[in-house]
Amino acid sequence: INQKPILEIKNLNTYYGNIHAVKNISLEINRGEIVTLLGSNGAGKTTTLHTISGLLKATSGEINFEDQSIQKLSAHRITALGLAQSPEGRQIFANLSIKENLDMGAYLRKDSDGIKKDLDFVYNLFPKLLERKSQLAQTLSGGEQQMLAIARAYMAKPKLLLLDEPSLGIAPILVGTIFRAITEINQLGMTILLVEQNANLALKISHRAYVLTNGEITLQGKSSELLSNPEIKKAYLGN
Ligand code: ATP
Repeated sequence: INQKPILEIKNLNTYYGNIHAVKNISLEINRGEIVTLLGSNGAGKTTTLHTISGLLKATSGEINFEDQSIQKLSAHRITALGLAQSPEGRQIFANLSIKENLDMGAYLRKDSDGIKKDLDFVYNLFPKLLERKSQLAQTLSGGEQQMLAIARAYMAKPKLLLLDEPSLGIAPILVGTIFRAITEINQLGMTILLVEQNANLALKISHRAYVLTNGEITLQGKSSELLSNPEIKKAYLGN
């Protein structure tokens, strides 16, 4: 068994010009975990995800994925190592069908039997996608597009899946579906880093969490413990 963290970040710093958005953060994600990154608007959550996935470059610090240093690699190389991101704002291919979007997710894979099986899995997870598989993705509602984005990221079969605000702008009735899907994906063995504003649900489905405040990690621990932490309750749970 490999007990070492799948992702290990040490003293990471990311800037936009002279704006210091991520300040010396360190965090670990173990295999099989769902880890939540909490923080208010502008805390640096998306910047952290983009630095991990290679869309932004850190000015200093280390990012090790499966014991390999990745902070100097291109986003494309990082994806090929098994780290996929489902971005905030979704960014699906609007002019492709739902099925074609899912095929794009799997474009680096050669195991056609595995792809077929995973396609069945995501259609089962989100039956709306199966019903509408031949339609253009732009005809989906916002919530359905979010499901497609998650399903597409899943089709890459990453070892680590980064999810940026999967419940953002989603009708309450669909939020439960999305969180159940995240749990199911994790139960199949996929490790997940989840950025969420919906702290209550995120803490309920995750194993551990880190809290970012103004670019710094100010609190970390088991999600179950953070759910009853008075500071968290006051700042993020509205009670
Ligand atoms: P939200 O929940 O609102 O998406 P976040 O926690 O994801 O917020 P980031 O988007 O990572 O926060 O932003 C962190 C900080 O960096 C903020 O102060 C933001 O204004 C700043 N920032 C983000 N993107 C840029 C950019 N392209 N240029 C300059 N500053 C930026």
